[in-house]
Amino acid sequence: MSSSRSATRLDPRAPLVLDTRELGRRPGSMRRVQRTVPAPDGWALDLVRVPAGSDVALELRLESVVDGVLVSGTVRVSVDAECGRCLEPLRDVLEVEVQELFAYDLSDADEDAFALDGDFIDLEPLVRDAVVLGLPFSPVCDDACPGLCSLCGEPLAEIGPEHAHDESDPRWAALAALRPTNGSASEPLAPPEIGS
Ligand SMILES: [Zn+2]
Ligand SMILES: [Zn+2]
Repeated sequence: MSSSRSATRLDPRAPLVLDTRELGRRPGSMRRVQRTVPAPDGWALDLVRVPAGSDVALELRLESVVDGVLVSGTVRVSVDAECGRCLEPLRDVLEVEVQELFAYDLSDADEDAFALDGDFIDLEPLVRDAVVLGLPFSPVCDDACPGLCSLCGEPLAEIGPEHAHDESDPRWAALAALRPTNGSASEPLAPPEIGS
């Protein structure tokens, strides 16, 4: 095996770098890769993140094709978030599919395409993009989460349906008058009676 072919700027021991030499650049050869690696920093949106160092479970297929190596499979991560309504912390599991061709030669492919570096593949950008795109923008602890009381900010799920504010207090009444009235029976406050 020529040593120049495996020249690479990548660190072959990095957890998200794969060595493709076993495929031998023979179209049709295939290899399965199962590994669990620690999540790097920064896979996150405002309310949601993959905790740095937590397990990223990869189950991938590497297939040699004429132009390069096709990587496909699933990536599973755990996700820490805050409920977008009540702000309670929650933990979930996210599984995303990946499929991407890593080309031997990018000269006639577009700039956004992925390429092999020597005989190695850097999975990090592919996996990061798939995971971050799969994160929920507005996670909720429960579809029925009632959120926070708009007057005092307490979680309605904990303080219960009896929760109400004394509308004779002018501060609450003034706030209540500002709220849109939607006639829902589950509202903790009745709309203020004007002029009666
Ligand atoms: Zn909630
Ligand atoms: Zn309240």
